[in-house]
Amino acid sequence: MATTALGTRSPPRTIPVFRPPGAIEEAEFLAGCTRCGDCITACPYDAIHNAPERLGERVAATPIIEADTQACLMCEDFPCIASCEPGVLTDRIPPVMGTAVVTEHLCLAYHHTTCTVCSERCPVEGAILLTDGKPTVIEAACTGCGVCRYVCPAPENAILLMPAFARPNRPKP
Ligand code: SF4
Ligand code: SF4
Repeated sequence: MATTALGTRSPPRTIPVFRPPGAIEEAEFLAGCTRCGDCITACPYDAIHNAPERLGERVAATPIIEADTQACLMCEDFPCIASCEPGVLTDRIPPVMGTAVVTEHLCLAYHHTTCTVCSERCPVEGAILLTDGKPTVIEAACTGCGVCRYVCPAPENAILLMPAFARPNRPKP
């Protein structure tokens, strides 16, 4: 880490992005990911792609998920993690990519319309709770896979997805 007249300089910051499941802490991820593309090839749903140049030199070409294009379907066997040779995707940490939030004023179910699409399609048990037909995301269970956002039929998408701002690092052996 560089030192300046004002003290130790923090590592360069990056824009938060959605990484594939099991991605370790971002700085370690960027240091260890070889941009080989094996997770991209392994994903049976084409949910992972290379980050574009516009996200900056450090992030460009690393694997990201954009739920608006194709959400992660939370495969039981996580082929993306299994394919990652450097182990920057690992099953030793929870496969949490972020979290979803229902924007109530945009959600059809909050406006006298029957709509249960997000809770029906959510692949994670207990992540969406329905109360009187209205969905709420349970943050502790949600993995941020983005399926709810991908399927939301509201005229303006009612699901806000936020990437995980801090992810755990690989546990020591
Ligand atoms: S869990 Fe499955 S759908 Fe999700 S990124 Fe990995 S391989 Fe793709
Ligand atoms: S609530 Fe949405 S983002 Fe969270 S696990 Fe379910 S489908 Fe995925």
